[in-house]
Amino acid sequence: MNAQELVQKHKLLECIQCGMCTGSCPVSRKTNLNIRQYMREVALTGKLTIHPQNELWSCTTCSTCGIRCPKELNPYEFLIDIRSLAVEEGQIAPTIRDALESIFKNGNPWGRIRSKRSEWAQDLNVKHISQGAEILYFVGCTPAYDPRVQSVAKSLVKCFEKAGVHFGILGDEENCCGSEVYGMGEKGLFEFLVEENMKIFKKYNVKQVVTSCPHAFHAFKNRYEQKSFEVLHYTQMLANLVENGKLTFSKEVSKKVIYHDPCFLGKQNGIYDEPRKVIESVPGVTPLEFDRSRSRSLCCEGGGGRMWIDVPGERLSEIRISDAVESGAEILATACPFCLLTLEDAVKTTGFEGKIQILDVAELLALAL
Ligand code: SF4
Ligand code: SF4
Repeated sequence: MNAQELVQKHKLLECIQCGMCTGSCPVSRKTNLNIRQYMREVALTGKLTIHPQNELWSCTTCSTCGIRCPKELNPYEFLIDIRSLAVEEGQIAPTIRDALESIFKNGNPWGRIRSKRSEWAQDLNVKHISQGAEILYFVGCTPAYDPRVQSVAKSLVKCFEKAGVHFGILGDEENCCGSEVYGMGEKGLFEFLVEENMKIFKKYNVKQVVTSCPHAFHAFKNRYEQKSFEVLHYTQMLANLVENGKLTFSKEVSKKVIYHDPCFLGKQNGIYDEPRKVIESVPGVTPLEFDRSRSRSLCCEGGGGRMWIDVPGERLSEIRISDAVESGAEILATACPFCLLTLEDAVKTTGFEGKIQILDVAELLALAL
């Protein structure tokens, strides 16, 4: 794609230079990323330049810039296209290259072998999708392999079982959804994953998918062009089950709980109410809110490939933890594997261990079953 095509595709000439995008960008406070200036440079000079790595790869694709733009432009989509150029020219950090290579070879970014993908479920009575299940539970790479996040998948299985949901998994046939691959600009690999995943979904006649991860949800909902299935994030499904009286609780969790909106669930897809409804349905919980919540929520810096590239400086997740502790919350709940990991890490780096617990919403619910 040349500069002129990018100018047209992203409507760069419609930009009124108001600066709302850069002003609202959570990473611009710690890096030189100035998305407004970057777009202006391309529109004015007609030349494509690849900015330094710690700038280009600092964007988390959180979409705040797109939400704030009065002209309804999507600056981060422009940045993803610039990343594609960098990927084509091989200008990528070794850690990102390793993650992409692992996805191509093993179907996951964590360098783990495919035959261990469903090990997390070995002690559970989880069916394969081919055994008469109505709904595919798409586990995702991080809940499948990461020892901390496996607990989210296990908790979700408990919730589904309690509510009588007929679900199945793909086991070792499950592949990376491609969300972060797209965000890192590797569009060729993304298309390959779409094809592979669609083949598997068709093979098992999948009509309904529920994901643990907002990133997989976003990819299936908004990036897969020709899909033959409906997709839900698990908080949407649990909110329905609670509302219909199918998911009930037998224990209390007497804690103050604050909810962190994952960008890919909230800002990217407008899902703000369902996770809150689910949290509020747990007996004993006192719900709290951050000052910066919903569409003003602070990004955890885990999206857009940032799980595989570190950007020096104060972490936004550390600010989030300090704000949560200050609010008096005992539990910080979220609904995204990347948020869970970045926030939990920030508890350690801020020295707030023992003061606040990080849980996924599914784990919080499982405590009350
Ligand atoms: S998507 Fe988020 S991190 Fe990226 S440029 Fe926009 S506001 Fe900044
Ligand atoms: S918010 Fe939109 S109109 Fe304003 S500078 Fe950014 S891209 Fe341009």
